[in-house]
Amino acid sequence: MSNRLRFAPSPTGYLHVGGARTALFNWLYVRRYGGQFLLRIEDTDRARSTEDSTRAIFEGLRWLGLQWDEEVSYQGANVARHQADARRLLESGHAYRDFTTPAELDRLRGEAEARGQAFRFDRRLADLPADEIDRRVARGDPFAIRFRVPEGETSWDDLVHGTITFPNKDVDDFVILRSDASPVYNFAVVSDDVDMRITLVMRGDDHISNTPKQVMLYRAMGHEPPRFAHLPMIHGMDGKKLSKRHGATAVGDYQHEGILPAAMCNFLALMGWSPGGDREIMSMDEMVSLFSAEGLLRKAAIFDTKKLEWMNGQYLALTPATELDPIVRPLVVASGLVTSAQLDARRDWWLSLLDLLRVRARTTHDIARQAATYFSDSVEYDPDAVAKHWKDPATAASILRATGDRLAATAWNAAAMEEALRKLAEELGVGGGKIFQPLRVALVGQLASPGIFDVLMVLGQEKSLARIQAAVERLG
Ligand code: GLU
Repeated sequence: MSNRLRFAPSPTGYLHVGGARTALFNWLYVRRYGGQFLLRIEDTDRARSTEDSTRAIFEGLRWLGLQWDEEVSYQGANVARHQADARRLLESGHAYRDFTTPAELDRLRGEAEARGQAFRFDRRLADLPADEIDRRVARGDPFAIRFRVPEGETSWDDLVHGTITFPNKDVDDFVILRSDASPVYNFAVVSDDVDMRITLVMRGDDHISNTPKQVMLYRAMGHEPPRFAHLPMIHGMDGKKLSKRHGATAVGDYQHEGILPAAMCNFLALMGWSPGGDREIMSMDEMVSLFSAEGLLRKAAIFDTKKLEWMNGQYLALTPATELDPIVRPLVVASGLVTSAQLDARRDWWLSLLDLLRVRARTTHDIARQAATYFSDSVEYDPDAVAKHWKDPATAASILRATGDRLAATAWNAAAMEEALRKLAEELGVGGGKIFQPLRVALVGQLASPGIFDVLMVLGQEKSLARIQAAVERLG
């Protein structure tokens, strides 16, 4: 039998990183073991579901490269089937009508609370003679449909947690269809998973308490339950469940902060899975070939954004400039310093600039920020860089003047310039740093940059000499 897995988000907000992780694991499983990865939008909560959110889910999944295999299914479109399934359970005696009014339920709940007990629905309340039920139905009295929880216990063999068993006595006869005929979550999910022929349900372990109810429903409906894998929750650095307090939790936020989708996937893959050893950086193809149910972890995963940025830096260093071009170009063009046509006109130069910057950047925005200085006419000096390397303005000015003179008289290639400046350092009796650091501030205004001779090459002779001149004037 072919594997059929699904990601079933509720479209009530953006695509959360936890949801994206769950989608990724379902996708990886299917790519690894074969089968279909399906997407079901659980939009039965009409009040909270929005089209914007559905769109954000599609966009987020596409950005991550997690394409689903069949047409998207919408839970809200399946309500007639949910109702028919509930009627069948009624007919087979696995469910019953409950005419208890909301007011009566509130009263009973209040009484239980007053006794300091948790409210439990007593099925005897609904135990009416058949002709009385028929009379009420004919009269149009509203009723909910409750599932008749069987005796015994319910267990399943969880791919992550091993065997999990719940005594059925801990589960109330729960409503499956409300009195307005709308299905409750646990019931709609089972009806849909049966209909979609789902073979493995992989989802967050916050759903573990729903699973016994779902397993009972499968059996009552005459189906073998699928397998289950409950993935650990994702926590922030403080060990608490990840929330907005910890910073961005939407996949789209990371996209807009300049994280590469491959880095995001790699990072998310390690949220509850380990390929074994201390392996961390993996391409999508490598993750697919290494993924296994045995590598799934139980312990909550920690979402460390610093680590994500580090990982993204590793990806940037590995990604060829030609692939970064379409991502970084719009950011640089948006800065207004250069047009796309101008970049095309100097494409080789532009790619070499990307090559220089990508190895020390953490995000594509970092690259765009650092790139700005290579396009602008003037340099913005970082006060820290000035304080550190132009501490004594007169000395800095005289070194920069000498540096400019040497460079003006040298062939514009890295080796020749390096030789000339090392010679100058020797003549002045100073270390190379005493020349290179003030020069770096003059050229890019920053404490850090790519290697100084790379910077000189990519800026070009004219711009470099003009910047040295401007720095001398400013210092002088
Ligand atoms: N719609 C549910 C949620 O977003 C997931 C249901 C499931 O995976 O079974 O939490």
